[in-house]
Amino acid sequence: MTDCSSSPAATTAPWAPDSWKDKPIKQDVVYDDPQELEAVVARVATLPPLVSSPEIDRLRAQLKDVAEGRAFLLQGGDCAESFDYCNPAAIEDKLKVLLQMSLVLIWGMRLPVVRIARMAGQYAKPRSSPYETINGEKILSYRGDNVNSIDPACRRPDPQRLLSAYFHSASTVNYVRLLLAAGFADIHQPKAWDLGHVRNKDIRREYQTIVNRLTDSLGFMEVIGATDTTLSALNTVDLYTSHEALLLDYEQALTRPMPKTLVASTSRKPYEPSTPPRESLAPDLCDWYNLSAHFIWIGDRTRQLDGAHVEYFRGVKNPVGVKVGPSMEAEELVRVLDILDPLFEPGRVTLITRYGAGKIGDFLPAHIKAVQKTNHKPVWCCDPCHGNTTTAPSGHKTRSFDAIISEITSSIAIHSDLGSRLSGVHLELTGEHVTECTGGSQELSHSDLPNNYQTFCDPRLNYEQSLDIAFKIAKVYES
Ligand code: PEP
Ligand code: MN
Repeated sequence: MTDCSSSPAATTAPWAPDSWKDKPIKQDVVYDDPQELEAVVARVATLPPLVSSPEIDRLRAQLKDVAEGRAFLLQGGDCAESFDYCNPAAIEDKLKVLLQMSLVLIWGMRLPVVRIARMAGQYAKPRSSPYETINGEKILSYRGDNVNSIDPACRRPDPQRLLSAYFHSASTVNYVRLLLAAGFADIHQPKAWDLGHVRNKDIRREYQTIVNRLTDSLGFMEVIGATDTTLSALNTVDLYTSHEALLLDYEQALTRPMPKTLVASTSRKPYEPSTPPRESLAPDLCDWYNLSAHFIWIGDRTRQLDGAHVEYFRGVKNPVGVKVGPSMEAEELVRVLDILDPLFEPGRVTLITRYGAGKIGDFLPAHIKAVQKTNHKPVWCCDPCHGNTTTAPSGHKTRSFDAIISEITSSIAIHSDLGSRLSGVHLELTGEHVTECTGGSQELSHSDLPNNYQTFCDPRLNYEQSLDIAFKIAKVYES
């Protein structure tokens, strides 16, 4: 048997933001005009970062807590963000559902919740086939708004869309920051905390009980003179951004060096603009951060050990996710961890498992056992969406609420039986009242799907179904 406790497989080859270019790449986009791509990427490389390295370090520290069982991770958002979702209402709705879900989880689990939105950059999509057939015509598949258009007439990959993706991400991040700074997440703020149109009486009652008890407790703290700092800390929350880092030219353009000495300093303010000129940085004196988002992940289709994506990911300081599906061998999983986490940092890697409710029992135990034989301490996170996608008789891609819950509860139980812990969930959801997944307290059926089916890609849990899930998870951990 091999000794997995050290990291013999970790690569010692030098890394650079472009070393991925020497590796085989999957899901690559072929542009008609490579020079135009080069010019766009060069422009993105001159633009300001979207997030800061101290924010990323803060998330790293929080994910360490998650990996060690002191916090829970909630990651969620659209399958594919569209440039059109960059509007105040859509952003507020998504923020609101994530905040409300996290409140339910915090209350039920009595643990802090780390919130990461699939937002402000979740544009690129891996596809099972580069082509699709629409009305008998074979055309290029939609690859996400940063590549081509959902409109079948505009499927040519257009490099200018990368620039547009940058500005839509910037605008989205800016609005999230503005909302949080203006007190959107303050528990007294009805816009964020009211249940809106949720009809289900049980959800309304249970949720309102939590909010009332929380506001009562806060009122009590004010009366007894709890310090201002304690209370003002409750007026806002951390919300991190994330996306699948699929288009490596773009990711590379936003990968910036930070001198290790500056990074280590705790006295820096979060927004201190300190991106020094590249030429002045010796490679061994700096850390590289992907400043397009706080957290990035590798999809199930691009996680080859010798591939370009794993090569890129191993060199950035950001905490990273890896999707883990039925095709992942246990040994391969250990190798991925060795490459991405050579220093055995708890929480450096989040394993986002996505097998399907019917398959999780066949794969998760071996994956957990293989990792337990190593010194890696990843965050184990369940994505109960991607292994449970089906096609309704109407042709709509859908997911059943029951299958989603079943994968989550199986995951919790399997981890617990093996002395491990499920520490997070990764969900495709929206704050809107779409009809894309079946079931939940609204009991949506296949025949309801056409009523408000909006997704360009995978089906998302709607607002009410998302809250349903949060209550269900909180209850499993309570019991
Ligand atoms: C996704 O998260 O939208 C996705 C494509 O997932 P996976 O890589 O797990 O298939
Ligand atoms: Mn998806």
